Amino acid sequence: MRFKTFLNILAIAGVIFAFTVSGYAQGKLNVVTTTEDLASIAAEIGGDHIVVESIAKGYQDPHYVEAKPSFILKLQKADLLILVGRELEIGWLPPLITRSANSKIQVGANGYLDASLQAQILEVPSGQVTRAEGDVHPLGNPHYWMDPENGKIIAKEILDRFVKLRPNDRAYFEPRYNDFVNRVNAAEKRWLALMAPYKGTKIVTYHRSFPNFAARFGLDIVGYVEPKPGIPPTPQHTLDLINQMKKDSVKIVMVEPYFDLKTPNAIGRDAGAQVLVMPPSVGGTKDVTDYIKTENLYTFDGEREGIAQGP
Ligand SMILES: [Zn+2]
Repeated sequence: MRFKTFLNILAIAGVIFAFTVSGYAQGKLNVVTTTEDLASIAAEIGGDHIVVESIAKGYQDPHYVEAKPSFILKLQKADLLILVGRELEIGWLPPLITRSANSKIQVGANGYLDASLQAQILEVPSGQVTRAEGDVHPLGNPHYWMDPENGKIIAKEILDRFVKLRPNDRAYFEPRYNDFVNRVNAAEKRWLALMAPYKGTKIVTYHRSFPNFAARFGLDIVGYVEPKPGIPPTPQHTLDLINQMKKDSVKIVMVEPYFDLKTPNAIGRDAGAQVLVMPPSVGGTKDVTDYIKTENLYTFDGEREGIAQGP
């Protein structure tokens, strides 16, 4: 009898112990990301073991987000904050982190993840780092998520951090990460094949949002509507750009959805080029609901768009 009671106690203790270490006792991991791209990748790995929400929406310019008080509330409850980094969010995120007074997500804490640290970053300045003249890319190009190879690197960073914060959920997160990588690999193969006929096509973009995308898929970006990242178009720069586009026979101006189309349309008219509005993020348009769908959107149909194949 006494032995049986002892066994019962052991069993109950076992249940309590299992419950505690399973991570469920801690509840779901509360994740806040700065962009919808990061939220999408986090959701792929975290599944129903996390709750994830993005501060910026995909249709907003991620450099300039209005810091609302509701964002502070979100950050107060967060176990993990994932940001793009490279100073993309420097204009709005640091005061929100400070004002959240949440020790878990302060810079350097386990709940603070800069997703850019392992990714391939382009346009890293070789000289002195400066935001002089308003350049908003002083630490290299922060729009690196648009290369699917970087998407996989971001996913690995997120996996590692989830496991660090919830070690007992490793067996849940790892297969989800592997599945995501497999789907990105399959999609990337399709996209490369679709884009192959347009290798070397010269394009102009509004902001420097697409260099990683262009490098991966073989497009040649020859100019920008902005004179410098974050600096609105000037008449002289616009004139120079039109002349260059005529010289180089550039037929496409790619514009992020949050920029005014007045200047791009004028450039398109004068240079004989088409203006394509291309969301660089999940949530940029209604049909772009996850990371893999974002990339799908870029494999535009050149024939449909009337773009000649080849350079
Ligand atoms: Zn930028």
